[in-house]
Amino acid sequence: MIEGIKKIGDYEWELPIGFVEGMHVPGRFFLSEKLTGTLEEGALHQLANVATMPGIIRNSLAMPDIHWGYGFPIGGVAAFEYESGVISPGGVGFDINCGVRLLTTPLTPGDLIKKKEILDALYDAVPVGVGARSSLRFSEKQLETMMTEGTAFAVGEGFGNKDDILHCEEQGGMKGAEPAFVSKKARSRGVPQCGTLGAGNHFLEIQVAQEIYDEPAAKAYGLEKGQICMMVHCGSRGLGHQVCTDHLQILEQATRKYHINLPDKQLACAPLTSPEGKAYYGGMAAAANYAWANRQIITHQIRSVLTRLCGIAYDDIRLVYDVAHNVAKIEEHDVDGKRTKVCVHRKGATRAFGPDCQDVPPDYAHIGQPVIIPGSMGSSSYLLKGTDVAMDRTFGSTCHGAGRVLSRSQAKKKLQGKTIRETLGRSGIMIKAPHDGAIAEEAPDAYKSSSEVVSVVHNLGISRLVARLEPLGVIKG
Ligand code: 5GP
Ligand code: MN
Ligand code: MN
Repeated sequence: MIEGIKKIGDYEWELPIGFVEGMHVPGRFFLSEKLTGTLEEGALHQLANVATMPGIIRNSLAMPDIHWGYGFPIGGVAAFEYESGVISPGGVGFDINCGVRLLTTPLTPGDLIKKKEILDALYDAVPVGVGARSSLRFSEKQLETMMTEGTAFAVGEGFGNKDDILHCEEQGGMKGAEPAFVSKKARSRGVPQCGTLGAGNHFLEIQVAQEIYDEPAAKAYGLEKGQICMMVHCGSRGLGHQVCTDHLQILEQATRKYHINLPDKQLACAPLTSPEGKAYYGGMAAAANYAWANRQIITHQIRSVLTRLCGIAYDDIRLVYDVAHNVAKIEEHDVDGKRTKVCVHRKGATRAFGPDCQDVPPDYAHIGQPVIIPGSMGSSSYLLKGTDVAMDRTFGSTCHGAGRVLSRSQAKKKLQGKTIRETLGRSGIMIKAPHDGAIAEEAPDAYKSSSEVVSVVHNLGISRLVARLEPLGVIKG
């Protein structure tokens, strides 16, 4: 183990104040003994660095999918007191509101005789790759509404139904979005890319619900054993990336202006109440809404393909839920017995609000919000539920995936895309990607064990298992 770390529970470790100079609070991370081999010293330093930022409350936190990221570690959660704290693009990530949604269908594996045809049609309907462009062209004015309304805009344009809006975090539209803080350049990247998946880690997957752990929760979420599901992972494409790039520049200057001492330039930030901090928040929320509209349009494309090829009804393809895993949000949490307004940064972390919390859809309120945790193209993904424990301990947050163990370049050097495609094919998982190199970077071996990561958050109680989903067909960007 890395020097200076204290084990304080079965799945809990502490980075004491002093691990790096200037920490206001200790760092905490959640991990099993089994996963300690995946720990990167660099990511732990990042976790400690976050603890030096003004206004941080309680702990700088990391989930078991922790790995190195820009400024903040991926898997990181940090809450800042609204009046004295800061907001930082490094705590959100370049892909603003990268997130995941889960759809159920009335199909079972037996209905997938035409799996290849379905995958091919999905691949045609949802453009993939780095600069993928959509055949849809929204006007500047429509883009503006999209950035203000998110999912509701897409549904209003005919890309879904009213239930879809209810079943998104924030109802698919963050309040406080200010398109005025989204640059011309960001907009020009956003228009042609709306309705596209993007590259690399983003995916569209056909899955089967293989195991149900919590019947009442699965029932409330509308999921049954043996059901075919679709999972979508993507974000705000070039628009969000550009919003991050633009505001980083402004916030680097603001860091100096407000005399904020940081151990790493990548943590550039500004007070939440400052004009610079508010501008980033407004731009980020606009990009988040674009991402929700994007996932909604992709959902429509999936529905169109499945209704055409499988003869099922559009509205019988139901959205279970849509979560953001790269975002900063203004929320209220109990801190030392006091209701406190905070800004929670979740960077590669998922909100996991428990029963009866604000923003959990009415039909799920007695259970808690659905938490969607993807694994990899060759391993299990999971559906969990949010808990009161998460509200008490992690500002209502949990992990967002398995988390990487190999960087893209390491994976590409070590692993062979063609071999992986063939091996997965033999176990019934069909992969479709622009080229085999894209498969190597995203190989199951490039990620931690999803079952191990999920068992940590389940055993800690910061989210609880509902169902296990297995991949049958994967489209990779
Ligand atoms: P990120 O947003 O950090 O890029 O990725 C989120 C998580 O998605 C990763 O940590 C990984 O566990 C998971 N993941 C990456 N590729 C795939 C895939 O092709 N299929 C599934 N089901 N999960 C994936
Ligand atoms: Mn992303
Ligand atoms: Mn993501």
